[in-house]
Amino acid sequence: MRLYSSYSRRKEDLAPPPGPIGMYFCGPTVYQRIHVGNARPFIVSMWLRRWLELSGYQARLVLNVTDINDKIYDAARTQRIGSFELARRATQWYFEDTSALGLGRPDVEPLATETVPEIVTLIGELMAKGLAYESDGDVYFRVVRFPDYGRLSGAHPEDMVAQEPGGRKEDPKDFALWKANKPHEDTWWPSPWGRGRPGWHIECSAMAQKHLGPRFDIHGGGLDLRFPHHENEIAQSRGVGWEFARLWIHNGMLELRAEKMSKAVGNVVALRAALESWGYEAILVFFLNAHYRSPVEYSGTAMEAARSQAADFRAAARVAEARASAFTWDSFRTALDDDFDTPRALSILHAWRAAGQVELLGRGLHVFGLAVDADGAEAPPDLHRLAEARQAARQRQDFGEADRLRSEIDRLGWEVQDVTGGAFRLVRKTC
Ligand SMILES: [Zn+2]
Repeated sequence: MRLYSSYSRRKEDLAPPPGPIGMYFCGPTVYQRIHVGNARPFIVSMWLRRWLELSGYQARLVLNVTDINDKIYDAARTQRIGSFELARRATQWYFEDTSALGLGRPDVEPLATETVPEIVTLIGELMAKGLAYESDGDVYFRVVRFPDYGRLSGAHPEDMVAQEPGGRKEDPKDFALWKANKPHEDTWWPSPWGRGRPGWHIECSAMAQKHLGPRFDIHGGGLDLRFPHHENEIAQSRGVGWEFARLWIHNGMLELRAEKMSKAVGNVVALRAALESWGYEAILVFFLNAHYRSPVEYSGTAMEAARSQAADFRAAARVAEARASAFTWDSFRTALDDDFDTPRALSILHAWRAAGQVELLGRGLHVFGLAVDADGAEAPPDLHRLAEARQAARQRQDFGEADRLRSEIDRLGWEVQDVTGGAFRLVRKTC
């Protein structure tokens, strides 16, 4: 399998299975219900983990929750509640909304608030190496001491100046690792530099190392995080002596079609609202339509089309007998192994659907958390054999044998239903 790395700017091969493959993806900052766009790194990383596992890899996905951040203090103050309480609630919303996508959960979902001791240790090590310095209770990274700065994003150290203004720095290009407690901030942690809290970038370096070790395979996140967030993660982590991530992958951003979104924008694009309006399958199919690195435009029209594709997949068992398809499982595998090309994989799923290749279709949809409706794809192979034998008995007009086989299937808890064109489907009995 190969993936395009933003760091080397080319597709790079993963070592052959079984790995292990360590993956770290940057998760949301929790201060409100997440938007559909925030769901993309969650969806892409969960699909990728499943695909790696199906390919024989031992994959471990760490997807963090940023629960210490300026945005949380600001939102909590506006709502007149404690920032810790707001972050706790919004973390719960994030878990609820992403669980409704039906993809399961990452292996580890660390919180910044649980990682402060490791963060403080890491900052101490950077200071000992001369890569960081204290100033009035703040600690800053000395960008000039990391010559590779900008290699991931192409940004120059000067670009940091506008990103993070501040009067306590030696050099305006430096960025904060630790921020002294301010009067309006209602949470703080002790440190050798006094009360304060970590900067955002150092949180991810520490969480990745804590759960994946100093060297792992894939670091991902939205394209908007490439600079300065990921550039700074690299400076901190390599600066302290870790190899850190080998491949850096970035998903494209969600764009809104302006004319459709003029009414109550926030409400329309919250993941929860999208789930209620369109259902989880339409959201998954919507993201399948675009390559993960491409931007994707969210609109009512696009969601309508995705919902109708999802319904076609669900109804696939109702097509007549399977015909041969030009596409084998290998062609599907080739599409996904080549930088996870989901639009190509999706067109193969449609070809299987049109040909009535329900078994291949069910297997392919499973990778993305989708399914064919009660098609018996998940029925054990023995049941398929009984149902096929019954079909053959009916064709030779041996109705006694056909009835006997139907009873046997029934006794095993399944019902065989005949559909047009001589096909059948197996449905699990609900009683
Ligand atoms: Zn991050």
